[in-house]
Amino acid sequence: MAQPKYLSGDAAAINEFLDRFDTFLLDCDGVIWSGDHVFEGVVDTLQLLRSRGKQVIFVTNNSTKSREQYLTKFTKLGIPAAADEIFGSAYSSAIYISRILRLPPGRDKVFVLGESGIENELRAEGVRFVGGTDPSFLRNMTPEDFRGIADGSLLDPEVGCVLAGLDMHINYLKLSHALHYLHRGAVFLATNTDSTFPSNSSLFPGAGSIGTAPLAYMSGKRPLPLGKPSQAMLDAVEGRFRLDRSRTCMVGDRLNTDIQFGVEGGLGGTLLVLTGVCKPGDWEKEDAPAVPGFYVDKLSDLLAAGSS
Ligand code: PLP
Ligand code: CA
Repeated sequence: MAQPKYLSGDAAAINEFLDRFDTFLLDCDGVIWSGDHVFEGVVDTLQLLRSRGKQVIFVTNNSTKSREQYLTKFTKLGIPAAADEIFGSAYSSAIYISRILRLPPGRDKVFVLGESGIENELRAEGVRFVGGTDPSFLRNMTPEDFRGIADGSLLDPEVGCVLAGLDMHINYLKLSHALHYLHRGAVFLATNTDSTFPSNSSLFPGAGSIGTAPLAYMSGKRPLPLGKPSQAMLDAVEGRFRLDRSRTCMVGDRLNTDIQFGVEGGLGGTLLVLTGVCKPGDWEKEDAPAVPGFYVDKLSDLLAAGSS
């Protein structure tokens, strides 16, 4: 099996690595920051990449924020970025629904399991939706709900798609609606299928575990995922930015999202950073989903390029 090349501390190898690429797709959590903590040297590393004329695009599976909400986070954390350099799975899903799926009139509403980030991006693309953060869903099921959902009188006849992301207020009422929309033939999409996400040095239930997997189990349908490693996300990124795949590098902390995304997309390279979920040698395990081309201990190790 090919082994990834370790770059940390090797200025010549880092320069050679940087010269291979024009575009860097950067995962956020585990690479740029962990929660609200920005990793040391990240701002300088972004500056280095930009000063060498590299296009930098932030590609994150976190669907809870829209691009604008992300920009607020970048600004608050002191990381220079523009809204149009940020590509989240909520945006990727909205683009897919409005520009690729094109639901037929009269069946063009989306039932959302998720937070305001998804709603904001759907709104920006002119996609109508129900569910989401609507407070009327935040209660227990009543006998009337069971009856009305079963006979369809409480369902919106215009819903033609269920989009599942991370919904911190998921409950039986929302899942019952989603299941019945799927029974009625709604298209099943997932913003991302991450089993967990990291926070406060621990792992918490991710979108894949709390929304997508239960819905897939109860409906017998498989969702089309629109976050990494889904190639639908790379297609959406490509539809938005000019990039030559052979001169693009995906940088991330997870083999089964970021690195697989880059490898399956035929990108020129993939760089694993060890400040997130993966540990050295994870790529040697029998069930490793992909092997990175390169790895570093932390993103700011690339700064060594400046001193060669
Ligand atoms: N989903 C949620 C809800 C998250 O909070 C995170 C990270 O914070 C992720 C997914 C993974 O995001 P990324 O692709 O930036 O690592
Ligand atoms: Ca990550």
